[in-house]
Amino acid sequence: MAIERKHQMGAGGYCVCPKCGRREVHQSSVRCIEQKCPACGSTMVREGSEHHQKITAKKG
Ligand SMILES: [Zn+2]
Repeated sequence: MAIERKHQMGAGGYCVCPKCGRREVHQSSVRCIEQKCPACGSTMVREGSEHHQKITAKKG
C-alpha cells in the first residue's frame, strides 16, 4: 500500500462546506474547521480528510 501521491495534509488543498458543497482554498494559517462557509455560514472541513469522508459517506 505504498502509492505515493503528492497529496499531503500539510499545505494547500481545499476546505469544503458539508452543507452546500462550497470549496474554498485552504489557508495554511487557518484550519478548515475554524473557517466558516461564506455562503451559508457552516463550519468547513478539509477536503479529503477523515472528517470530510465521514460526512460524504453519511449522505450516501
Ligand atoms: Zn456552505
